[in-house]
Amino acid sequence: MNPPILLNGKAISEQIKSKISEELKLRVADTAPPTLATILVGEDPASATYVSMKIKACHAVGIQSRSVTLPKETTTEELLKQIHTLNNDPNVNGILLQHPVPHQIEERACFDAILPEKDVDGVTTTSFGKLAMGKEAYFPCTPYGMILLLQEYGIGIAGKHAVVVGRSPILGKPMASMLTNLDATVTLCHSKTKDLPDHVRQADIVVGAVGKPEFIKADWIKEGAVLLDAGYNVGNVGDIEISKAKEKSSYYTPVPGGVGPMTIAVLLLQTLYSYQSKFSPILRAK
Ligand code: NAP
Repeated sequence: MNPPILLNGKAISEQIKSKISEELKLRVADTAPPTLATILVGEDPASATYVSMKIKACHAVGIQSRSVTLPKETTTEELLKQIHTLNNDPNVNGILLQHPVPHQIEERACFDAILPEKDVDGVTTTSFGKLAMGKEAYFPCTPYGMILLLQEYGIGIAGKHAVVVGRSPILGKPMASMLTNLDATVTLCHSKTKDLPDHVRQADIVVGAVGKPEFIKADWIKEGAVLLDAGYNVGNVGDIEISKAKEKSSYYTPVPGGVGPMTIAVLLLQTLYSYQSKFSPILRAK
């Protein structure tokens, strides 16, 4: 068997960011650059770090940011008001509401208040519906980042059996829809799935989207499988026992440096698309 190939999300994300930067340099003089509005509610340090990484990445490619920070006591109504203000601001091209919000807030209602034309993080029910129906939309950044990685490395998806472990609305479920649109045969697993290792053993493509460190064991992996690890857990480890599992794989994403940087690159790309008044292209098998 050939040695496993590392899917270098860091390098591919840099290429995407360079293209965005180049494109923005061609902008007509005197026109405002794109603007991404970020909303951070509360004091979760991990969320604050993610938001500041995203803002930094925006600035590096020439996207402006508008940063809204709200106290942890914020109510659903107060957050909705902020979202409506940003929806109505013609200078804001994209809105990112950092997940998770404090427990008293109805997160789904707030996500769904974001205009689909500004939903560059791909979190609204409308965007998900469009994705599921095979239409153009803004896609959830992490799963779309994984699809772009597969495409960049020329890894075939059509006819493959993909097993996605985790079904959250921003990660596992849309990943299953994307893979389905690209003609994979998909098994979507979750906490009630019986005989999980047996499902994973069937997989040509394994997606770790659980949020439990090294939960997917090396001995569940079929020889030659492609391993995509979206998990990011304390200690810089993913959801797949990658140090051993990669030896059985054909391709694998490292943690860090795999899926994480692609997530940010997709956010920037979709902000650019919104600025250009277009959506991400329809995902369908060629
Ligand atoms: P989440 O909302 O907590 O969802 C976790 C999913 O895992 C749920 O669908 C849950 O099933 C499933 N699950 C839990 N225990 C399981 C078990 N024993 N067997 C099978 N499935 C099980 O998490 P998330 O937001 O999707 O995030 C998942 C991971 O991805 C986290 O590590 C997170 O940090 C990472 N992440 C990374 C990025 C990035 O940019 N790299 C972005 C987003 C998330 P039920 O539905 O049945 O409860």
